[in-house]
Amino acid sequence: MKNQDLVEYLRSCGVCEICQLRYLKARGAEYRNINETLQKLDVKLNENVENEELVISDGIQPSKRARLGVCSTCLGLFSKDFQNELLNSILASDFAKYDCQKIVLAICLPMSLQLRQLAMWFALQRRFGASIDENNPPDVPIKEAVKLILHPIICEKLAKGYDANGLMINIDLTHSLEDEEVEKLVKLNKEAFPAKASHQKRIEISRGLLEKQYQPSKVKAETYEKYFQIPCSNVEESIKLTSIDLQGPLICVAGRYRKLSRELSHTPWILNGQRLMEDSIEEIIIRHVGPHFTEKLGKITFMSSGREDVDVRCLGKGRPFVLEIPNARRTCLTKDEAFAMERAVDASGMVSIHHLQVVPREELTHIKTGEEQKKKFYRALCALHEPVSVKILEQLQISASFNIQQKTPIRVLHRRPLHTRPRTIYSVNARVHRENPKALIIDIVTQAGTYIKELVHGEFGRTTPSLSSIIGKPMDIQALDVVGIDLDWPHEVDNSKQKE
Ligand SMILES: [Zn+2]
Repeated sequence: MKNQDLVEYLRSCGVCEICQLRYLKARGAEYRNINETLQKLDVKLNENVENEELVISDGIQPSKRARLGVCSTCLGLFSKDFQNELLNSILASDFAKYDCQKIVLAICLPMSLQLRQLAMWFALQRRFGASIDENNPPDVPIKEAVKLILHPIICEKLAKGYDANGLMINIDLTHSLEDEEVEKLVKLNKEAFPAKASHQKRIEISRGLLEKQYQPSKVKAETYEKYFQIPCSNVEESIKLTSIDLQGPLICVAGRYRKLSRELSHTPWILNGQRLMEDSIEEIIIRHVGPHFTEKLGKITFMSSGREDVDVRCLGKGRPFVLEIPNARRTCLTKDEAFAMERAVDASGMVSIHHLQVVPREELTHIKTGEEQKKKFYRALCALHEPVSVKILEQLQISASFNIQQKTPIRVLHRRPLHTRPRTIYSVNARVHRENPKALIIDIVTQAGTYIKELVHGEFGRTTPSLSSIIGKPMDIQALDVVGIDLDWPHEVDNSKQKE
């Protein structure tokens, strides 16, 4: 089969030049200069073809343009008219509201298009016989061609880069023949793929099904031809754009927070429909960081590497956190902007954040996994009923790690199942409080997930051993601070320094 013969046959079937190149299996940049590529492939140019550029600059309306012939295989998808319509519709949408440098097109194609590819496949088999494979499409499939042809053109015209994680432009297309042809397709499907048993549900018609099952090795041309023409019929009307919907990218903003208040919950604290605390770490951070990226603050997800109790502070370098912001309007955060957000959060007096930055989505694994293996560093203020003795101090200097068994504390039983969990305590280091001889300041390093309050007082033997059982005396915990979290993420950035 010579390229010239193939192209001449395609031309006789009303196939456009871009689609001719698809059947010549052109790649990437070869679609940019049609004539050059045709010549390179030893195909004579068609003198009779209307110059599309000329038609548009003459100001001929699309309806008149249709009479010049809509491609029977792509239904005008690759025509200049359609490219212009698509471009103008994107510009008329909320596109300008998104400050994103990267975009991706998600085009939902009518099923009529896929049916037409199959019709042409059959037609080529009849015309060129065995040189046309019955398992591998004779053309570059439409979906792939959209990526090769439409994507680069639209990206270039909009001056945006391509990225699968960029602003998603969802484009719905239809064709006036779609309903009628889908109806016929349902009948064809019953005949081509009869249900094997009466009780078996018939398979739903879908684009995926068309892709997988509708090829000459699986559907007979004779069956197909009962419902559709081979080669496909010419059409008057071009494909139509029904809607454009924009979906901004998912942006992840990470940082570290310090919790300075002993009266602040991690997330909104609601019990029996009643709000117990006015504010929360989650809300304070989202309130000051969220609006830069989205109007819908309620859609933002707050995550952190563990959490502390309401009355526990988190000091030192702070606790890593991340906000997952869907459908973001912006993808960037300058140091200036980040610093302004950090200061706004600090002004709450209850939470302080730093190292605020946009991070790649893949890095979220740092916060989501390995939680149990991490070490946590605490400082506890504890009280005895008697002055601290040298013996007690010696008993609470433990540098070798040891294991404890910890039953779920009674205070969290309403939200956690009852289990006994082994936990490792890496070290304990106590000293007497300078102003109170009955008080101890104890630094404790534990495996993540250890309940510290119960580790101290033992909770009636539900945690064994406990610091109280080790010294053989009752001990209360009066205040607790988290002083370190064993996660070196996100990397440190000093947003207050504008010049690097
Ligand atoms: Zn075409």
